[in-house]
Amino acid sequence: MQEIRVRAHAKINLYLDVVGKREDGYHNLETIFHSIELHDDVIIRKQRTKGITVYCEHLGVPRDSRNLAYRAANLLSDSVGGIDGIRIEIHKRIPVAAGLAGGSANAAAVLHGVNQLFALGFTQERLMQLGAALGADVPFCLHGGAALGLGIGDQLTRLPALSDVPLLLLNPGIEISTATVFQKLNFSLTTEEKTGIIIRTCLEKGDVIGVGQNLYNLLEVPVFSEYPEIAALKAELSTQTEVCGALMSGSGATVFAVMQNGGAARRCASYFKDKVSFCTTTVTSPVGVSVY
Ligand code: ATP
Repeated sequence: MQEIRVRAHAKINLYLDVVGKREDGYHNLETIFHSIELHDDVIIRKQRTKGITVYCEHLGVPRDSRNLAYRAANLLSDSVGGIDGIRIEIHKRIPVAAGLAGGSANAAAVLHGVNQLFALGFTQERLMQLGAALGADVPFCLHGGAALGLGIGDQLTRLPALSDVPLLLLNPGIEISTATVFQKLNFSLTTEEKTGIIIRTCLEKGDVIGVGQNLYNLLEVPVFSEYPEIAALKAELSTQTEVCGALMSGSGATVFAVMQNGGAARRCASYFKDKVSFCTTTVTSPVGVSVY
């Protein structure tokens, strides 16, 4: 085998609460992740030239050792005492720095793909442990489907995934640094009633409307105070007919809606498409990475 093609699926957070600050500067989270069908294509090839080459047309994505996909390949290579040349081609569809874990998904795809292409024999669990060193969302991107994430989001418990639930994603074109959002977090603002346990029950019952009604993300507080236009976008989305609920994903700026059906998602998309820089319909996915 000379090449492997891997779909790197984005994620949304149906629930995200920050439950404490850690001594290492990170925060402990309680979050519920769900993979979505929106994905980047990651093509990994063996190449004669030694080293790792990254190719990506998107100008906001670095092609050097800052790229999470590069770092994933490097990490695997170091763990086995060196791998010959690897070329990684990334075709981006997931908006960058948008709260959808695009970089982490690419890293997960490379861990999965390089492991298979070079028959390295790492277990899924070991890849997830290695991935945690690259970024808090990488283990979930390998895990896929739906999961409760504790710790920095890397301690995962599988939850039942929603099957093909229609979603609408809107991004106003604001790139947000996750680190800055956490720095601005003020714990005294965390007075709202928490709905994590309700969402878990809704997932177990396959109750899509219940999931939509109980979406929650504490990070909306610091992000909306800095960018009121994102709050306004969410408010406009929430009041559309056939929307079960809307939320900002991760540290933003993408806002998503759980929709009643695919037709509703398409109708809502045509209403928003000229108002935002990124607008797409998608559905929930049972997997985070898949070879195609
Ligand atoms: P998260 O939700 O995990 O915080 P995000 O979706 O907000 O992630 P990413 O799309 O992963 O953000 O991008 C964050 C930063 O990482 C960008 O500024 C980008 O330059 C950098 N980056 C490094 N590698 C990649 C990659 N393969 N794809 C996208 N961005 C990357």
